[in-house]
Amino acid sequence: MTFENSKEFAQQLDSQDKLNKYRDEFIFPKVNGEKVIYFTGNSLGLQPKRTKAYVDEVMDDWANLAVEGHFYAEKPWWDYHERFAKPLGKIVGALPSEVTVMNTLTVNLHLLMVSFYRPTKSRYKIICEEKAFPSDQYMFQSQVDFHGYKSEDAIVEIKIREGEHNIRLEDVLAKIAEVGDELALVLIGGVNYYTGQVFDMKTITAAGHDAGAVVGWDLAHAVGNIKLELHDWDADFASWCSYKYMNSGPGNASGCFIHEKHHNNADLPRFAGWWGHNKERRFKMEQTFDPVKGAEGWQISNIPILSLAPYLASVDMFDEIGMDAIIEKRDKLTAYLEFILQEIAKEVDSSFEIITPSNLSERGCQLSVFLHGEGRGLFDYLMENGVITDWREPNVIRFAPVPLYCSFEDMYDFGQILKAGILR
Ligand SMILES: *Cc1c(COP(=O)(O)O)cnc(C)c1O
Repeated sequence: MTFENSKEFAQQLDSQDKLNKYRDEFIFPKVNGEKVIYFTGNSLGLQPKRTKAYVDEVMDDWANLAVEGHFYAEKPWWDYHERFAKPLGKIVGALPSEVTVMNTLTVNLHLLMVSFYRPTKSRYKIICEEKAFPSDQYMFQSQVDFHGYKSEDAIVEIKIREGEHNIRLEDVLAKIAEVGDELALVLIGGVNYYTGQVFDMKTITAAGHDAGAVVGWDLAHAVGNIKLELHDWDADFASWCSYKYMNSGPGNASGCFIHEKHHNNADLPRFAGWWGHNKERRFKMEQTFDPVKGAEGWQISNIPILSLAPYLASVDMFDEIGMDAIIEKRDKLTAYLEFILQEIAKEVDSSFEIITPSNLSERGCQLSVFLHGEGRGLFDYLMENGVITDWREPNVIRFAPVPLYCSFEDMYDFGQILKAGILR
């Protein structure tokens, strides 16, 4: 499709966009009395208007029923989390029994490593990507320390080649083959938080398995953003947060995937708690732990209902729309933003380097842009003029035009503000 850098053209794309009406379902912060252009849904998604009712329902049930709410609330609390299994399973490409919601992301990755990082004297190495999200790096370091290995030896990073910005698939596969018999676990961010690169999870999972390793995925930037087929890809486990593309609110609960093939494996160690215990017998207060078969068997504590309520509002919205429609708009909107950036670069005779892969199968909705010759002043200008983005040293701005609430007109308007900011 040929794009035009004009307001009329952008408005025309909006009028043809089936998801445009969902914009009204979100609450936008305002700057100078105007709705912002929000590019940071990859960090914290906007609040859906329907969320408040989900939270109010829990507050009312608590007020009116108190402890009885566990069984008699509008949505009973004791099995509240079960409402996620089916719709969230669809979002990540999993069977309902393979998905549950609990805790927060880094906590869940640690808990999953209890089960799936089982180092031995000869097979103890972890492969991850260079410049993994810091929380993941701290997690790897503390896990290998805990098991008595040295980080320098046990953690193997796949490097980005000199002069390039993304990791090549061939380098991932070569590293897996090289570490071979020493490889215990491959655990990579399915979408890199910094560059927006999407990894070929199917191929990497198969290669990890060929080497005899377990393969897990951190899907913080993937869930709600890209098509996932976790079950078919045969991933062993995965976890994600819900406050980025899933719009569930700051610091909110995490989701987990544990492949069906592990559900009946009684030898897998895990850190247990009463919410993972046999549901029929949970309140008999028995001494011996009998895990629920399925991802729910990894639950530990009773459910934080007030944090799951906003997550359920979001999952219901995604279920209503479906990932296919989201992805279709995502590709067009991201391509339009890419076009606008290129047009503005020509007009102001500046060079923006988009470091996110241009290949559609290797990107979701984020574009990370090196603004050569520009400094933080430009970022401040954008923020003061209602363009919410985030800045990463040295001079990379990440833009996530989230298809659920960003419009084509936003992209056009942003281009004009960017141009004024550079020429200021
Ligand atoms: C956002 C993000 C996290 C955040 O972890 P929390 O435990 O939710 O604070 C972890 N890993 C990646 C890759 C992320 O993008």
